Amino acid sequence: MNQTTTSSELGQIREAILSRQRFLITSHARPDGDSIGSQLAMAFALDALGKSVRIVNADSAPEHYQEFPGMERIEIAPRVDHPDVDAVIVMECSDLSRTGVAGLEGQFIINVDHHAGNRMYGAINWYDLSAAACGEMVFDVIASLGVPLTPEIATHIYLAILTDTGSFHHSNITPRTFEICRQCVDAGVNPAVMARRVFDSNSFGKLKLIGALLDDMELVDEGRLAVLHLDEEMLRETGSTHNDTEGLINLPLTAREIQAVVFFKIGADGVVRVSMRSKYDVDVRQVAAAYGGGGHKNAAGFTASGKVADVKDEIIGRMVAAIAAGLQSRPA
Ligand code: AMP
Ligand code: MN
Repeated sequence: MNQTTTSSELGQIREAILSRQRFLITSHARPDGDSIGSQLAMAFALDALGKSVRIVNADSAPEHYQEFPGMERIEIAPRVDHPDVDAVIVMECSDLSRTGVAGLEGQFIINVDHHAGNRMYGAINWYDLSAAACGEMVFDVIASLGVPLTPEIATHIYLAILTDTGSFHHSNITPRTFEICRQCVDAGVNPAVMARRVFDSNSFGKLKLIGALLDDMELVDEGRLAVLHLDEEMLRETGSTHNDTEGLINLPLTAREIQAVVFFKIGADGVVRVSMRSKYDVDVRQVAAAYGGGGHKNAAGFTASGKVADVKDEIIGRMVAAIAAGLQSRPA
């Protein structure tokens, strides 16, 4: 695994931004709150410096993010034919292909990420494994540029941290996390409003889907592992969409005994996306890495090659082993 890089990269990013004019910002396909928040906070900061900014993502964001400031600026496209920019800022991607946006190869790339296993594909690579969210790193970039925390920027930094810490549940939260959130609240963010907008904005279809998923949940390893399945038929029957599935993986973890969750999502094309979550020191990133995926200790994922029936038993075996290893070093 590569080392976390140091603040000298932050200085290089500052210089690279100040000396350039036209930017394209992107992040990973199927964006989450950290990718949306990191990109838009950066975009508003570049606006403040009088730079020109385009944001291009492969997929649109889930519905509950659509009313956040600046969402209408995000272009959805699988490729950019003539970027015509001075630098591309890539957030949250361990390699460039995670963007799902083609045509960015060969550009001056600024790579800002906090996932283990970053491939260092940029002209500048700032990689900080200790950041609880990429939004923490973007906060530092913005501070280094001397741009004040406007309500819009603070909202997006807070959104990034709120979502990527699993609403302050994951084990990578540090005093720095709260110091940044403190400054965001000072700049006008209302934590109650943010939590309600992000976590209490379900559609009725999503509520029904929660019922169906939990009804169908399997418990393994004496209840320490929960296994969830989702297919197109469940979406149809409950009147929900793929965008309604965000966050559902966390529900089983609310049971005290359950230490980890694996969620198999079977798409209309038959492709199986596997998401995993865990408590404390149960390391699901290692399980994802064994299948070419990635993420963090408590939140990771990959795309399976093959049908669920073919891969499920082996993945569950690896999850059970990760739980056994993680329980040994659980905090008191
Ligand atoms: P998800 O379960 O899709 O919400 O993803 C949880 C975490 O794992 C996020 O940090 C993702 O960026 C990461 N992740 C998910 N799928 C992949 C993948 N195929 N490759 C690398 N990282 C992934
Ligand atoms: Mn993140």
